[in-house]
Amino acid sequence: MNAIINDVTLRDGEQTAGVAFNAEEKIAIARALADSGVAEMEIGIPILGAEEREIIRSIAGLGLSSGLMVWGRMHQDDLVSCVGCGADIVNLSIPVSDIQISHKLGRDRKWVLRSITRHVREAREYGMEVSVGGEDASRADLDFLREVIGTAQMAGARRFRFADTLGLLDPFSTFERIRKLRTESDIEIEIHAHDDLGLATANTLAAILAGATHANTTVNGLGERAGNAPLEEVVMGLRHLYGIETGIDCRSFPEISLLVAAASGRPVPANKSIVGDSVFSHEAGIHVDGLLKNIANYQGFDPAEVGREHRLVLGKHSGSKAVMDAYGKMGIVLTDPEARSILVRIRDHAVANKKTPASSDLERFYLETSSCLAAG
Ligand code: MN
Repeated sequence: MNAIINDVTLRDGEQTAGVAFNAEEKIAIARALADSGVAEMEIGIPILGAEEREIIRSIAGLGLSSGLMVWGRMHQDDLVSCVGCGADIVNLSIPVSDIQISHKLGRDRKWVLRSITRHVREAREYGMEVSVGGEDASRADLDFLREVIGTAQMAGARRFRFADTLGLLDPFSTFERIRKLRTESDIEIEIHAHDDLGLATANTLAAILAGATHANTTVNGLGERAGNAPLEEVVMGLRHLYGIETGIDCRSFPEISLLVAAASGRPVPANKSIVGDSVFSHEAGIHVDGLLKNIANYQGFDPAEVGREHRLVLGKHSGSKAVMDAYGKMGIVLTDPEARSILVRIRDHAVANKKTPASSDLERFYLETSSCLAAG
């Protein structure tokens, strides 16, 4: 089994309400993604205007190793705007669910099929590779999706993007739908999942298991509303759960995550899997004691794989082993009574301040404790 990552941070990620990247930021993110080994990336929407097209052309001019995609609606104007911008492939998006076909487009299924035939052929005549983006594919009639794919392929499209536009699917329904489409067509299938129910990564993995060839991701899960499937989660999930390699060097994740967080103005929550600040921090006494005995006791994967390391922090749930370990690293060997006495101070500090004591706090606790014990 295989999976090609097509990261859409620079398109769907940027489409997030209130997010806009400038040219330098887009170029820096594109470089970082390419350097880390991301195979493909969607870099913008040419119809947005001359400035956007200029940025797209600059990224195309970098000679990155990644394939480049641009996005447009299944419209004449959008398609023409993509000509000559230097991308390798264009994704032309069109609603495929009855609800959107009638209530958004005011059209019917036949119109959608005719539109696909006409615009895909035209894009091919311009020499572009084409992906047909099936907007709201999760709510589309499955037989109609088969027709859409057949029509797209007949007109010369090489890929179909299955967009769970509203994040409505679960992994079981995703698997079933992709599997059915897969058995009847050899077109490239790209899963585009949204995280409205917190299932974007699970749905993306399910689609890959069902035979999807490509997966859309965004750094930190940036994207419309609750966001897209996070790059870091999909890549690590594929590797650790299914042994599927994407060619991406995961040690670059912290750097790319910071870059995108800064450029988007969307800070990463401390508990965000893989890239969150505190996801490799350990405080609870039983966990720290277990880790100190053997790291395998509480390690699912080595944080070094994603450019991180374990951090033992002291707090309300610490035990005296962790206290002795922390002071040992400061060159102070504690006796058992000292460790127990300091632990009380650490717990009081944690409750009062809602944070880990700094090393200056620890030094103070030690001085206070040893003078107390000496006096006592
Ligand atoms: Mn989307």
